[in-house]
Amino acid sequence: MTIHSGRHFLQIPGPTNVPEQVLRAIAAPAIDHRGPEFAALTRRLLEALKPVFGTGGPIVIYPASGTGAWEAALVNTLSPGDRVLCFETGHFATLWREMAQGLGLDAECLPGDWRHGVDPAAVADVLGADRAHTVKAVCVVHNETSTGVTSRVPDIRRAIDEAAHPALLLVDTVSSLGSLDYRHDEWGVDVTVAGSQKGLMLPPGLSFNAVSDKALRASRTARLSASYWDWAPVIAANESGFFPHTPATNLLYGLEEALRMLHAEGLPAVFARHARHARATRAAVRAWGLEVLCADEREYSGSLTAVRTPPGVDADAVRQTVLERFDMSLGAGLGRLAGRVFRIGHLGHFNDLTLAGTLAGVQMGLQLSGVAADPRGLNAALDVLRSA
Ligand SMILES: *Cc1c(COP(=O)(O)O)cnc(C)c1O
Repeated sequence: MTIHSGRHFLQIPGPTNVPEQVLRAIAAPAIDHRGPEFAALTRRLLEALKPVFGTGGPIVIYPASGTGAWEAALVNTLSPGDRVLCFETGHFATLWREMAQGLGLDAECLPGDWRHGVDPAAVADVLGADRAHTVKAVCVVHNETSTGVTSRVPDIRRAIDEAAHPALLLVDTVSSLGSLDYRHDEWGVDVTVAGSQKGLMLPPGLSFNAVSDKALRASRTARLSASYWDWAPVIAANESGFFPHTPATNLLYGLEEALRMLHAEGLPAVFARHARHARATRAAVRAWGLEVLCADEREYSGSLTAVRTPPGVDADAVRQTVLERFDMSLGAGLGRLAGRVFRIGHLGHFNDLTLAGTLAGVQMGLQLSGVAADPRGLNAALDVLRSA
């Protein structure tokens, strides 16, 4: 294996680079998770998380990856055989639907081309036709990490409301929370699913459910078996600052520091930074003569960009060249996109020169892989960075 000097460029769309401050915060002794110091930490965390989710309601923290919080959202609110509406926006939406099916739900999937987000008109059609209100939940991945497409959650909410349909709205924000504008309460989301290792700049291992009053009411009659994921004991224990299980103490230290950083920069500035880096990335991709996978400019992701390689060029070979020569990891094409796209993560702990270095590595990697990427691509990105 080649020995590389300097810092590895981890430009996959999660796990993302963990800031030094967060790593230092994590490197502290464990404390008694039933003691007063811990209770105070929990209270501070639950307060500091609220504006990130855009909610005044309960937020449940799990020592689990994002997949665990997917399961929690489903098992707390639904009963065996319930009909749920899913959308084939990409790999993660597909996995979530398969999980729902596996849990004994009747998970219906509206097909998609992996280049678009959830179509609000399709939501309106299905729910409008469902006069008997058999659909109990609508599952949406806000930012589809496999495609770099961001669904328009407020428009989906409007479609549900216009159909006057009571289905719950469950939204996966694993790769958008803390990077893209998101408003759990204002957008009428019932359960928001999130994870620690993407926009929140932490290592993997924490995940979250933000819960609306309506979802909380649904949880009282839901009959899927929730057990470890059950919101009720967590919310009850959180009242006094504790958890019914052993919480991931050191990751919570890191979370406090990550939240401090997000609030110091200011969430609107954080969102604007991500949007600007995404714009600069798209400028480079186009000037290289390549295509962004996302086909609708209203749905461009601020946290990652999936790039299509030209026919005959294996995207995984490009990634391998970039890794070997420049010590940078790019995201692979997932599922049916394997070998056809690579993904540039530009989320989390990230600045203009991180992006410039990232795009320089991609440009050289493309050229070394036989793609006639126009070298003005990098300059096109720098123009965006300089002007803003
Ligand atoms: C990463 C990701 C997940 C899965 O989370 P894990 O932490 O890997 O379990 C789910 N949904 C989206 C949108 C993701 O990006």
